[in-house]
This record gives sequence, structure tokens and C-alpha cells, in this order.
Amino acid sequence: MARKIGSRYTANQILGRGSAGTVWLGEGPEGPVAIKLLREDLASDQELVGRFVQERTALLGLEHPHVVSVRDLVVDGNDLALVMDLVRGTDLRTRLERERRLAPEAAVAIVADVADGLAAAHAAGVVHRDVKPENVLLDMQGPLGPGGAHPALLTDFGVAKLIDSPKRTRATKIIGTPDYLAPEIVEGLPPRAAVDIYALATVLYELLAGFTPFGGGHPGAVLRRHVTETVAPLPGIPDELWQLVVQCLAKAPASRLRASELGARLREQLPMLAGMPPLDVDEPETEAAEEGEGPQEASSPAEPGEQVRRRGAVSLVPGAKPDSNRDTHTSMRVPAADELAGGARGTARVPRASGAPRPGSARHRAVARRRRITLAVAGVVLAAAVGVGAWAATSGDDDQPPQDTHSTSGP
Ligand code: ADP
Repeated sequence: MARKIGSRYTANQILGRGSAGTVWLGEGPEGPVAIKLLREDLASDQELVGRFVQERTALLGLEHPHVVSVRDLVVDGNDLALVMDLVRGTDLRTRLERERRLAPEAAVAIVADVADGLAAAHAAGVVHRDVKPENVLLDMQGPLGPGGAHPALLTDFGVAKLIDSPKRTRATKIIGTPDYLAPEIVEGLPPRAAVDIYALATVLYELLAGFTPFGGGHPGAVLRRHVTETVAPLPGIPDELWQLVVQCLAKAPASRLRASELGARLREQLPMLAGMPPLDVDEPETEAAEEGEGPQEASSPAEPGEQVRRRGAVSLVPGAKPDSNRDTHTSMRVPAADELAGGARGTARVPRASGAPRPGSARHRAVARRRRITLAVAGVVLAAAVGVGAWAATSGDDDQPPQDTHSTSGP
């Protein structure tokens, strides 16, 4: 089912489908290429076609070993296509789904590659705006690097920007993938280079942990966590690596590292990570436990083997079908300040070291009960010492969920 794309290219076979269109294995005058054919409703949008042509120079100018180069832009009848370098391999999401967690050395090598690609883009004034494992391709024909990682290349440059037209999103809407959205975007600020660093740090955390730091549940809850929650430490992660993750997940964009620095600092750590196995971290609480009212009501942990849906699949633009069950993008209202402030209780999911009780489980409730009893006993002792006022303070929150299931709300 080959089809002509413009006068120079033929699309031969579908490689994959994404939220913005279908990627084909194609043939051009200089050999095999990947052709991203944008969805029909996008291609028929005259404003978008205009922006597509305007962006031509910025998109075509980006050349770097860790960036999938765009070779050509084709506007032909109803077709709107980006012609890209063909990467023979897989995307990082597929690898992560297969392995669940990557060894730190491989994870860091991949993220360092992407950071280098971003550094080149940022130097050229291009912000990616949609860094996520789906947009990182692993070149299986390239040389094996540290931890057995194949070279990683960032793809889909400029696509988020093309689609984010004022008409489509209006000033109050957000475009991006909820789990990777920097807090300043949630607050309605324009996306600058630091949003890519935040997203990339989220990817690094996800490669190490098997889940994203603020994902889970309704996209609105995810957005709120980006603004209000502090990232919970990953058991067993080397301290220097953790410091980099924390710095790049800083709420204040100016506190994050620049891409070139992040790439260099990650590479410095590679020798120390050699041979280290994947972290032994368990998935945090289920969606029900997390969004529930407390441990009693939320006592429906996933059965062994049961899939916990962690992220919401929402379409990039109204009417778009998400690609199978993968998370794509969200387009939603910027939440108001009071909505973002959330309650006094945070909802960030705290990773547990493997073997620690799952929140909501009988064992977890028993631990929590023991802790409450201990607190109450401590309260009695304290009350005896300092009087009735102290007793009231220590026994008052008996019904609160145990503290270790929720981190406290950050600024
Ligand atoms: P998404 O919208 O989820 O980011 P894309 O539309 O960019 O997805 O790509 C869909 C799939 O097509 C990818 O998962 C990947 O397997 C494949 N693909 C994309 N770009 C290329 C490329 N340059 N070379 C080879 N395969 C690609």
C-alpha cells in the first residue's frame, strides 16, 4: 500500500502511530527515510499549514547526533508531512515497557544523550516542549555505549509548537503530556528551555523507578502535583544522581541545570554507576489509594498481577484518539491558584523500598495502627508531663492517614 508524498517521496509501510499522525517507512531521492504524515484534521487547518511553512527553517536547521533531523517538509494537497532521518530501532517507551526499570548506568547514558541533543536545540533557540520516552528513539544500529545503551535521539522537534496554535489552544489552555509538564506551564507561563530539562529529569526518574514522580490518576491531579508536591526520594539511588534529579525537577525554572551542564554532569557519574543493577523500588500506592479519603476507604490495593493505570490518556487536540493506551497529550484549562494549592494533604506518591507494605494493605494498616498507638502512648506520657493541653493536641488527629503515605505539600 505504497503512497506518494509530494513529488520526491514514497511512503511504503507504517512504522508507528502517534498523536499527531502516522509515521511511515519511506523512500526519498537519498535513500530510506521516516515520513510523519500529520493527521487529516491537522493537515486541513490552513493556519497550521502556514505555521508549518514558517517553521521550516528552524526545523530543518537542527543537526545533531542525538536529534532526529527533519530533512524536508511537504505540503501537497491534503498531505502535510515531515520527512525525517530513519532511526532503525525502537522508542524508549517500548524499551521501558519491556524492562520496567533500567539499570542506572544505561538510564543515565540515554538521558545524557538526550540532554546533549537538547543543548544543541536550545542553543538554536528551539524548545522541544514534549520530551517523553515516546519521543526518544534508540538507534539499534549505533554502537553500544555505557550500560549497553544504544545511542538515543530526540525526535518530534517543533511538532508541539506547530500544533499549539492560539486558535486551537486559546490563551488559557495547556498543551503537553501531563506527567512531564513543568510547573510553570501549569501556571500559564510561556514554555522556555527549562521546561525540557524538567521533562527530561522526569524521564530519568521514570527510567530508574518505573513510574513518573507526579503521575497517577486524573490529569488535573497530575498537574496540581507538579506545582505543589515535592519529589519523593528513590530508595537506593546514589546520592549524587539524586541531587541532579532534584535540581532539575526544581519548581523554579532558573534553579534547573542547563541542558549542556546536565549532559556533562550525567556523564561524569557513569563510571560510578557501572554494573549497578536496576533500583529495587516498588510501585507506590494505587490510583484508588492515592485519590481516596484515607487508609480505611482506600483499602483496595491492586491484586497481584493487576495492572494499575497510572496516567491518563488524553488527546492532543479535541477529537484525536489516543494511540492505543499510551499517554499522549493534554489540552486543558490552566487551573486557578486555589485549585492548584490543593488541600493541606499532599498527594505525591511515595516510592517504597521493595518489601515495604503497600498503602491500604492489611499489613500497612497494622503498621499505621501501631504507629498511632505509639503516638497515643507518647501523648499520654506528654500529657502527664505538661497537662491537658498537650493531650488534646496529640490525640486529635487519630483518624488522619499515616504520614508516610503522603508527602507534605511543597510551596
Ligand atoms: P508520538 O506522537 O507518540 O510521539 P510519533 O508519531 O512521533 O509518536 O511516532 C510513532 C512511532 O513511529 C514511534 O513510536 C516510533 O516507533 C516510530 N518513529 C517515529 N519517528 C521515527 C523515525 N524517525 N525513524 C523510525 N521510526 C520512527
